[in-house]
Amino acid sequence: MKAQRKPLILVLATIIIAAIVVVVWGTKGKEDTKEMKSLPPVTGQPVLGDEKAKVTVTEFGDYKCPACKAWGERILPQLQADYIDSGKVKFSYVNVLFHGDESLLAALAGEAVYKQNPEAFWDFHKEVYKRQPESHDDVWINEDLLTQIAKETVPTLDEARFLADMKSKEITGFIGEDEKLVQAYNVQLTPTIAVNGKVLEDPYDYEKLTELIEEALQ
Ligand code: CA
Repeated sequence: MKAQRKPLILVLATIIIAAIVVVVWGTKGKEDTKEMKSLPPVTGQPVLGDEKAKVTVTEFGDYKCPACKAWGERILPQLQADYIDSGKVKFSYVNVLFHGDESLLAALAGEAVYKQNPEAFWDFHKEVYKRQPESHDDVWINEDLLTQIAKETVPTLDEARFLADMKSKEITGFIGEDEKLVQAYNVQLTPTIAVNGKVLEDPYDYEKLTELIEEALQ
């Protein structure tokens, strides 16, 4: 009896060891970054921080996306305190319109604010995300809300100009440029976060984000 049991234990042990090897290999093989074809251009995009900063963090985001709200509220403030305010990193935001008309409307408003008062853009940007309701499937983005936010966040807002700009060829053209970037850089998810063109598999992995920044700073 004993002689028969031994091989069974050996077989089981071999299976367990093989399973562990597969799991470890699988984890090792899974990449935590993906290289973009190049650094997405920042020209014409809102930039937070020193434009001459060596490292660029790019967000492809959508105002109607709850994961983007979470990223903007959890990760961006930390990134700003650790790297943007000290001039090591500049941050740029590109509009993605995965949620239809509301995404478009908010993006148009953002571009109109940026045109009128680039410094006020980031306050506007943060406030739009702040107003995103928990039940994000609700229809909540409309011209009145965006005008209200612009009035609150943009000092000396020219409201008539803001509304006219939202419908202008120029601002629509900026959205078209963003859509081209989304296509060209094969953006499939929001938020897509890239450090000098290296995309984080997990945009909330702050440790990995800082690792990529430190690498790029050297
Ligand atoms: Ca843009």
